[in-house]
Amino acid sequence: MATYMTDPIAEKILFSSLDLDPLILRAIEESGYSEPTPIQAQAIPHVLAGRDLMAMAQTGTGKTAAFTLPLLQRLLPYASTSASPARHPIRALILTPTRELAIQVGESVATYSKHVPLRSTVVYGGTDIKAQKPVLMKGLEILVATPGRLLDHVESRNLMLNQVQILILDEADRMLDMGFMPDLLRILALLPKQRQTLLFSATFSDSIKKLAQDFLQHPVTVETARIKTENESVKQSVYMVEHEHKFHALTGIIRSREIRQVLVFTRTKLSAALVARKLAREGISADAIHGDKTQLERIKALEAFKAGSIVALVATDVAARGLDIDQLPLVVNYELPMHAEDYVHRIGRTGRAGASGEAVSLIDSQEERKLDDIEKLLKRTLPREHLPEPAHKRLYTGHGPLKAAATHARKPAADDWFSKPYEPSKPAQQTETQPLPGAPAKPVAALFRRKTEPAG
Ligand code: AMP
Repeated sequence: MATYMTDPIAEKILFSSLDLDPLILRAIEESGYSEPTPIQAQAIPHVLAGRDLMAMAQTGTGKTAAFTLPLLQRLLPYASTSASPARHPIRALILTPTRELAIQVGESVATYSKHVPLRSTVVYGGTDIKAQKPVLMKGLEILVATPGRLLDHVESRNLMLNQVQILILDEADRMLDMGFMPDLLRILALLPKQRQTLLFSATFSDSIKKLAQDFLQHPVTVETARIKTENESVKQSVYMVEHEHKFHALTGIIRSREIRQVLVFTRTKLSAALVARKLAREGISADAIHGDKTQLERIKALEAFKAGSIVALVATDVAARGLDIDQLPLVVNYELPMHAEDYVHRIGRTGRAGASGEAVSLIDSQEERKLDDIEKLLKRTLPREHLPEPAHKRLYTGHGPLKAAATHARKPAADDWFSKPYEPSKPAQQTETQPLPGAPAKPVAALFRRKTEPAG
């Protein structure tokens, strides 16, 4: 297996030298990309050459275009303007672990293919399967799908997979983590043996290597920087703060830096709901996305966050997979994830595609072992900072990055909501969200500048 390590300087090449059709190049230009990202520069020539590929790349590296652009090029000879469904068999299948990622990949495919006569659509669970049928029946070349829903459509005979030439497994490590192996095996059995397979994964665990061994043929391996944090685009800080003081630490960060867009991670659905609710009560507009929210609620919350109408999106790991929010300036780990690898996924939400970002972790004494695991994975130690005094008493009056305007400090009135059992699927709009005074209605991430510089 050949391995090509990333060297962004040596790899400086132009899209125009990548043997892509002018119609595809036009879409790239309209997307505003000036040059390929390292994963694109490395992967595209191999995919164009028809090779199987094992790519280590996480969200934020430009991996979607890395597989979509050459895929479009390879399918161009089959493009047809005929209305007959028979002329539009599914030729490329892109599998993603989550609905959010499926939607996002689907949007990218639509963007990059807008000037070529190739049809695409996205199917995922949690929505009416019947509504997806008519689009499938008309025929399309590129299908983006989550595994379960794809199999539902196969069973309902809404689609055939026997003409698939290119299979893409996006975030394959996540698919295995989420228990999709049996579904994957069923899907693989339905595909022609003669095909090109591209596997994208943030990590190359043993199970991913086994998957590649079983289903890829003589793959080329390409790797971007193993861990995003190493490429300096994400500044990481760790604050030791007891659990009961975390919320005040969070509001302190948001207020002192006048943050208008922050993604906050919690470990559980309940915690995500609680934190979002408490933020809203503090006057910081917030919503939560987690597994108990319906697809529509999640999409609405994400849209509101992207549009700048809510400041904080509080998410669990599963719900946040694949979120693409341009130039997100800050990720806060309110609680560390169960699995160290999720930390890497989380901080990959910021500092995307070359933009700088910051990840702050609030860690209590119970979580120190998890932090050790993360450091083992990162192969580096993250310096631990301590809050000068219990956050609820002092409220960060000028120490390090948590310096906060003490004037914002106020104890929330008792809210019996917190003692009630959690009710899933509360519509996103019902959250008591109020934009911060003066919060703009458009994405403003790029305009953020921190007021205070972190200590150390
Ligand atoms: P991805 O890793 O595919 O989720 O992409 C992350 C972000 O990078 C998306 O917002 C893309 O639009 C953006 N992107 C992809 N390719 C490029 C490029 N060559 N130059 C600048 N941005 C890009």
